Amino acid sequence: MGIEKIILSYILKCRFKYKITRYKQEVLEMKVLVINCGSSSLKYQLIDSDSEAVIAKGLCERIGIDGKLTHQTIGKDKYEKVVAIPEHNTAVKYVLDALLDKENGAIASLSEIDAVGHRIVHGGEKFANSVVITDDVMAAIEECNDLAPLHNPANLIGIRACQAHMPGVPMVAVFDTAFHQTMPDKAYTYAIPYEYYEKYKIRRYGFHGTSHSFVSKRLAELVGKDIKDTKMIICHLGNGSSITAVDGGKSVDTSMGLTPLAGLPMGTRSGDIDPAILEFIAGKEGKSVQEITTILNKESGVSGLSGVSSDFRDLDNGMKNGNDRCRLALDVFCYSVKKYIGAYAAAMGGLDAIAFTAGIGENNSYVRKMSTTGLGFMGIDIDDDKNAVRGEEIKISTENSHIQVWVIPTNEELAIARETVELVNR
Ligand code: ADP
Repeated sequence: MGIEKIILSYILKCRFKYKITRYKQEVLEMKVLVINCGSSSLKYQLIDSDSEAVIAKGLCERIGIDGKLTHQTIGKDKYEKVVAIPEHNTAVKYVLDALLDKENGAIASLSEIDAVGHRIVHGGEKFANSVVITDDVMAAIEECNDLAPLHNPANLIGIRACQAHMPGVPMVAVFDTAFHQTMPDKAYTYAIPYEYYEKYKIRRYGFHGTSHSFVSKRLAELVGKDIKDTKMIICHLGNGSSITAVDGGKSVDTSMGLTPLAGLPMGTRSGDIDPAILEFIAGKEGKSVQEITTILNKESGVSGLSGVSSDFRDLDNGMKNGNDRCRLALDVFCYSVKKYIGAYAAAMGGLDAIAFTAGIGENNSYVRKMSTTGLGFMGIDIDDDKNAVRGEEIKISTENSHIQVWVIPTNEELAIARETVELVNR
């Protein structure tokens, strides 16, 4: 048998579908299931790696409470089902049943799912890149549980449930923290006794890494510069918000810290505050550190400030109707975004482009405008007409603006699918 025939028979035996050309093999199509598993929810998307289109998507909610499944195969009707979902294994079973459903499903057999990509919140210092999941990887993720006690255990449960229902299917872990592992020690080290870093790995990790990486790559393309020579600031502004300085394609600083509570004020999270406030409130209100941390996570941010809502649409409306605390909440948020832009431009010693992304970054023109107003001295000039656009990829700075400012919709699921395809094909 000639060498070409041997290679051909080997490839045909492989799990994936390849197009054979004389000199190269090329992945034609993989269906990747992307799983984002929280403590009481499981979001999923089935993505075609070739067209990068979403084939189906959905959400299992209220896991362990009662349970609801929402599913849509693209091109078919979206539906909701109230079903008992006592734990994540059952959730995964419902997801697979929904995908396999003859009428509203997307696949005829589970063998059509070629790989699963899992979003993992915390990879600590162990993971600077995505990895194929093995027993050792599972153990290493478990060792990071301390750093994200609400998220990592749920992520692991999601992996185990998928492994139980899809044995043998390759799975990849994509970490929120991995992109930020390039930060220099001066950016990630807290000025507390060094032994706490040595003993407990207390340091800045940063989150939303998948989004910051995805958007920064796209921004460099749009600006038309080699990413290696580009200094960018990515403003991921959603219910959880973080800003990252990306120099030469690498994260060099980011606003979130050991946990996603740090940095900007958010929907319900305080962001950075004077740490002495904890003891002060504890003394005044007779509350424990845990109780105050819960308040800082769930009752603070623009919700705590406005007393109205964590949703920026409600704040916009409140401000328009004369609610001064909604105005204040928006001002505090935008002022903080502006300060990070200034700080990170200084940290990088220059700036070529800024991107706004995620729910607020993509849709809220007021926030984008207020966060960049007064930065003309840095060469930032916003075109108000273009800035009025919502949810689209668009340059919102004027042609005279020295620094380009873009709105770029993020797509974390697609980024996870791309990483998954790359790793399982290596
Ligand atoms: P999460 O961090 O939960 O993923 P999102 O990125 O969805 O949050 O962001 C939620 C915020 O984005 C809300 O404050 C909301 O006001 C804003 N937002 C989301 N979609 C829209 C929209 N279509 N128009 C205006 N604001 C929006």
